[in-house]
Amino acid sequence: MSGYSIALAGNPNVGKSTIFNALTGLKQHTGNWTGKTVEHCTGYYNYNRNRYSITDLPGTYSLSSFSREEVVTRDSLLNGDFNCVVIVLDSCALKRNLRFALQVLSLYDKAVICLNLFDEAKKSGLTIKHKKLSDLLGVPVIPSTATKKHGLNELKRACERVCGVDYNCTKTELLKKYSPIEDDSDIIKQVFEECVSFSGVNNVQKRTEKLDKLLTSKTTGIPIMLLLCAVLFWITAVGANYPSEWLSAFFEYLKGRLYFFAEAVKLPAFISGILIDGVYTTLSWVVSVMLPPMAIFFPLFSLIEDAGYLPRIAFILDRFFANCGTHGKQSLCMMMGIGCNACGVTGCRIIETKRERIISVLTNNFMPCNGRLPILIAILMMYFAGEALGLASSFKVALLLVLILVLCVLISLLISKLLSLTLVKGEASGFILELPPYRKPQVLRTVWRSFLDRTVFVLGRAAMVAAPAGAVIWLCANVYIGNISILKYCTDFFEPFGEFIGLDGVIVMAFILGFSANETVIPIILMSYTASGTMTNYSGYEQLFSFFSHNGWTTTTAVCMIIMTIMHFPCSTTCLTIKKETGSLKWTLLSMAIPTMCGITLCAIVSHVMKIFV
Ligand code: GDP
Repeated sequence: MSGYSIALAGNPNVGKSTIFNALTGLKQHTGNWTGKTVEHCTGYYNYNRNRYSITDLPGTYSLSSFSREEVVTRDSLLNGDFNCVVIVLDSCALKRNLRFALQVLSLYDKAVICLNLFDEAKKSGLTIKHKKLSDLLGVPVIPSTATKKHGLNELKRACERVCGVDYNCTKTELLKKYSPIEDDSDIIKQVFEECVSFSGVNNVQKRTEKLDKLLTSKTTGIPIMLLLCAVLFWITAVGANYPSEWLSAFFEYLKGRLYFFAEAVKLPAFISGILIDGVYTTLSWVVSVMLPPMAIFFPLFSLIEDAGYLPRIAFILDRFFANCGTHGKQSLCMMMGIGCNACGVTGCRIIETKRERIISVLTNNFMPCNGRLPILIAILMMYFAGEALGLASSFKVALLLVLILVLCVLISLLISKLLSLTLVKGEASGFILELPPYRKPQVLRTVWRSFLDRTVFVLGRAAMVAAPAGAVIWLCANVYIGNISILKYCTDFFEPFGEFIGLDGVIVMAFILGFSANETVIPIILMSYTASGTMTNYSGYEQLFSFFSHNGWTTTTAVCMIIMTIMHFPCSTTCLTIKKETGSLKWTLLSMAIPTMCGITLCAIVSHVMKIFV
């Protein structure tokens, strides 16, 4: 068996990751917007007893060294020593894509051109003479529809041929004329005119234009965006409520069985305490409180991403960011941050200038991530949904979540403005944002992938942190120094400060311990109260509400808890990512200090004002 290496290169959003996934069986993130792949990724496939390693390079428009993606792609192509480069082109935007293809072909003779999105080109009334294109450029040209896996076998066959030792590549007359430095567009025009013809009506473009009139207009754009968020949160809140109750009832039943089993095998009380009351209870809380909202919210969010709506949000919000001296693409990073702040911070690489990238990194944590969204939903459900938990109350929760999200965006903008006036001074730079055509999302695949990649991944990570955290908290609650448990010492220590900001010592400690992962904040609070209180059973928000109220929570506590949830230091993973991305301890510390100071200040003000009026 011989081994060959192949690079996948192309403009952003042409379907490289979809092709990569289809060939290798790996699960690179796909999404209908420009700039989502910022790092290259390698996988393998076997074909006719040969092994091919395939590298998916970040999408770029050219091989200059303007942005980070361009540098990564250009350096990889120059130093990668690939046996073959597959240049993936968007068949619907061939003129623009050809420029990149010619640049790569001037570096690599051993290449294959993959005309992806061929289905959309057909729908748009385009006819592409791919054999003619192959003759002009002197490389195999393969039409493909990656989402349906059409053309991928032909692509493998072409790569096999090009990688083979007896493959003969001679530069065509046209390529000899092309110089990447002069970047002669007359040549591109010539190729395009000889190979592409258009007939009929471009339905894809018509549909995109019609939808864009509505979704990106100054009058309707923002209301529709807010409405969409509200619907998203509403479905999440309605859908999460019942499974959450069922799960916790199930875990409670299982807990009884576990106690029974522990007694039967005469497990020492100390061990069963750590394992059942510590590890098991914390894990079951994490799963029942977090799994349902995440399992609903993230697949829905991914569908919106796959349909191509995210860049429209960046477009709508661009003017606000420009007014604050920052980059419109910051809103895309913020949306990635809703999934996971570490991903949002890595995504800031799509911003070309260092100054704006730093601002975007420093403010990303204001977006509530996977770990924090369920905390917000739980608190809103408990304290602001009203008496009976039904459709109307969940709609109220959804509207409140939208308000919280708007608050998060406003705070991000305010802090961005302050940063651009002080620590990272400068004006906003202009940028070109590509609005892709709307695409019918691949419902089943997207939902399934998002469930595995986001929901299960985050839950797994939370569980890994929650299990030892549960054991430690249980130990702290049950190991006494004198007559007082270690946990009580700690919570008593934080109590005065907690009270000052409308919280209590337990909550402050939970946020500090939650540095490992935000998902553990609620379980730590519950564990800490349980250790000093009487809670035996939790099956849903109503019981959770009476438990918290029993432990001194008021509406003020709930409001301050919401503020602190959206405004405190990022989790450890995000901090490490910030350090890696900025290479600076100063920015990492600042990214922790800024939201924490905002949270503390706002909590102190709100709690004191509420004490006067409520
Ligand atoms: P990348 O940025 O080049 O890696 O592009 P992705 O693989 O993320 O694909 C961008 C979008 O195009 C996603 O929404 C895909 O589902 C969609 N897509 C990819 N290939 C095709 C195709 O051949 N036909 C159609 N209709 N959509 C495609």
